[in-house]
Amino acid sequence: MIVAGNWKMFDGPDARALRAALGDLPHVVAPPYTRLRECVDAGLTTYAQNVHWESEGAFTGEISPPMLQALGVTGAIVGHSERRQFFGETDEGVAKRTRAALAAGLNVIACVGETEAQREAGETEEVLRRQVGVLEAHPNLVIAYEPVWAIGTGKTATPEIAQDAHAFIKSLLDLPVLYGGSVKPDNAAVLLSQPAVDGALVGGASLDIDSFVAICRAGS
Ligand code: PEP
Repeated sequence: MIVAGNWKMFDGPDARALRAALGDLPHVVAPPYTRLRECVDAGLTTYAQNVHWESEGAFTGEISPPMLQALGVTGAIVGHSERRQFFGETDEGVAKRTRAALAAGLNVIACVGETEAQREAGETEEVLRRQVGVLEAHPNLVIAYEPVWAIGTGKTATPEIAQDAHAFIKSLLDLPVLYGGSVKPDNAAVLLSQPAVDGALVGGASLDIDSFVAICRAGS
């Protein structure tokens, strides 16, 4: 069971205080780039929120796998819906980032999920098939199912919706699948108890130490 906290473009909690509060609980934190070193130094399992496919080059604003590894970062989120929605990331780009990060030895959480309009139009499986279809199974790859309509909205997928989507994703690619979308301490246990739910990717609730620790505990 993996519980990962995506701090997005928020400064986030104090790294040492979070480390102390987590104790032995398994966790991943994905802070903004500016706080990666501090999180690594505090002893947190630290991922980046994105990663480029080249090692170096003329790619303004990007960060490469070896640059992250030099800081002690052990993984990256790739293809978050906010990257797809606001920064034009495509399935092909997500596949390239994923492949390069895995080849470099990083762990990867690759995000997939449908928008509200796509769900209402009955296109959820088609979207998931397309997004998952560009990925290949790898021991260091996990998928995060994050229905876009549930991210940062307070709307959570029902446990049944999560279970069905996760089972469908696993039928395409046999990998662990995390659920993401308004996971909070009060809904984590029921979501995480679904048989096809292998963990959670937590946004807003990971910014608060008590909330994140409670969700990690629900997953442990
Ligand atoms: C996320 O950022 O991946 C996320 C799921 O956000 P939230 O938990 O705030 O919906």
